[in-house]
Amino acid sequence: MVNASERILVIGAGGQVGTELVSELRKMHGADQVVASDIREINSNGLEGPFVILNALDQEAVKKTVLEYKVSTVYLMAAMLSATGEQHPDKAWELNMQSLFHVLDLAKDGLIKRIFWPSSIAVFGPTSPKFNTPQSCVMEPTTVYGISKLAGEHWCDYYHSKYGVDVRSIRYPGLIGSKSAPGGGTTDYAVHIFHEALSTGTYSCFLSQDRALPMMHMEDAVKATIQLMEADPATLSIRRSYNLSGLSFSPKQLASELKKHLPDFRIKYKPDFRDQLAASWPESIDDSVAQEDWDWNSSFDLARLTSHMLDELKIKDLS
Ligand code: NAD
Repeated sequence: MVNASERILVIGAGGQVGTELVSELRKMHGADQVVASDIREINSNGLEGPFVILNALDQEAVKKTVLEYKVSTVYLMAAMLSATGEQHPDKAWELNMQSLFHVLDLAKDGLIKRIFWPSSIAVFGPTSPKFNTPQSCVMEPTTVYGISKLAGEHWCDYYHSKYGVDVRSIRYPGLIGSKSAPGGGTTDYAVHIFHEALSTGTYSCFLSQDRALPMMHMEDAVKATIQLMEADPATLSIRRSYNLSGLSFSPKQLASELKKHLPDFRIKYKPDFRDQLAASWPESIDDSVAQEDWDWNSSFDLARLTSHMLDELKIKDLS
């Protein structure tokens, strides 16, 4: 829990994860305790509370915001994701690395007490075990996004062991939520498919039909993030980034689950470059260390995730 004179800052609050994280943190701590920030104006629906325009690459501006709002905890969600990163490798590297150094250095200088920074299953590569991928194994990512996340993990560990920085991290799988549009990742299909199924009844999928990937509902991802941030530091054995598993499915399996609700739904497959990115990643993840260290447990299977997403999107349409 944060006390009244210490606030939480979420950087990249307008994104797919940030939107739902801010909403949950504000429910827990009160709207004024959670400062949302992004490089652009964001849709404030359901996000009433302090908001600042903040460029994560502007170190002085990040420091000024931390001091002005008496911030003790930072959730750094700004990043360039896998598919967009392949189009702009230099920009992806700059954003994903420099933004992390800015907050790590503020913590090293004693200006913030705790950091959450997400990594990704993209840290794994074609030489990593494909099924039940363990916490520690061969990691040779082939995307600039994966390379930046893997380097970031090592820097988190370094700042923790060298300077005592309390930085915590999760390797998110593909995240599926209804509240905001996905931001250019390879797993975005699993969000788009719901919107298209409801609006047009058809979907053209950019992954091949059997390309299974680890996935997670956003509610689980936000729950895990907050659970890790509230865990007793003495229980945390990993300061690089925790493996986290929700469920694993292919586009074909998701489409067949959707057809149970929308029998006329049709899907076709037109794999593009993103199918090759996905091919280098695990199909399923072993998260036993997260379960042991901070009692992590996923609460969604494919049937529940599908009906939950459809219900949420129908309610959104009506409001
Ligand atoms: P997103 O692209 O939806 O959101 C990123 C947000 O950061 C956007 O609102 C964007 O405007 C903002 N931003 C971009 N550049 C910025 C800058 N210079 N300064 C401040 N804000 C800036 O991303 P997301 O899906 O919410 O992902 C959040 C984090 O989780 C990222 O680190 C991402 O790598 C990680 N992650 C996401 C997924 C997923 O499936 N969404 C999976 C694995 C890891």
